[in-house]
Amino acid sequence: MTLVELSVLALLSPGDAVVKPSAACDAATWTGTCTVRVGELERTYRGQLLLRGKRLIWRANVEDVVAAIVASESEPGAPAAALEAQAIAARSFLLAGPRHKEFGFCDTTHCQHFKTATADSARAAKATAGLILIWESRPVRAVYSASCGGRTKTAKEVGWPESSEYPYFAVPCKVCQLQEPQWVRRLPASELAAIAAGNREESARLRVGRELGWDAVPSNNYSVNGGVLTGRGRGHGVGLCQRGAAGLAREGWSALRILEHYYPGTLTARIGAQNVKILSELGQVP
Ligand SMILES: [Zn+2]
Ligand SMILES: [Zn+2]
Repeated sequence: MTLVELSVLALLSPGDAVVKPSAACDAATWTGTCTVRVGELERTYRGQLLLRGKRLIWRANVEDVVAAIVASESEPGAPAAALEAQAIAARSFLLAGPRHKEFGFCDTTHCQHFKTATADSARAAKATAGLILIWESRPVRAVYSASCGGRTKTAKEVGWPESSEYPYFAVPCKVCQLQEPQWVRRLPASELAAIAAGNREESARLRVGRELGWDAVPSNNYSVNGGVLTGRGRGHGVGLCQRGAAGLAREGWSALRILEHYYPGTLTARIGAQNVKILSELGQVP
């Protein structure tokens, strides 16, 4: 069983987190299915809860975490194949390795959002259990965004540092080309200049978002004309497009076909105790 650690709450003081007594939760070790109360907030986690300084950490089986991410990161009403594609992407992201020193992952856009698993998200995690994307023999840190606006972007296009990780490819997204409405934003001159100078890089969009709110520049797919920003899509536009995946699944695409479209050149593999078996090459993945 592969365990991952996620920072789920930042506390004002370690004593703020109180685990409710229950038969499903070992009170001494906070292990099992435990409900923790912080002020008015109550959340239930399966696995183990740990206090590390002023952070509440959830240590859990990767499959439970995948179900929690799919619950948070999917279009409402998305078909099963889209949820399964999201599950494989989320699992690959986790198994590509921790992103923080004191814990593995946070629950912001920096890593992956999650919430209590639903029946549909749990089903998607179970149907794809152990499946990940690999590229050059390593799990892909498979990123995704809400909607690409018609064409996805490479990591280089949004200004992410070049590395040995998967570079991403720009692929057309017919779902967004047909359905994605245009957005229009009027920004203060200084922010508009910063965006124009940022050359559609994610860092410029996030900088303006931190000042003006996350909806100030919804995506990197925009143009600047006469003091007005117009664009399509939501998010950085790299990797899987959640709106596109849902639309393609409605057309009957399988999870594997969706992943091959948005992450070209990757393979789908099943993680095992001994080795990684390439299933997409063998044609064994549904
Ligand atoms: Zn993070
Ligand atoms: Zn799209």
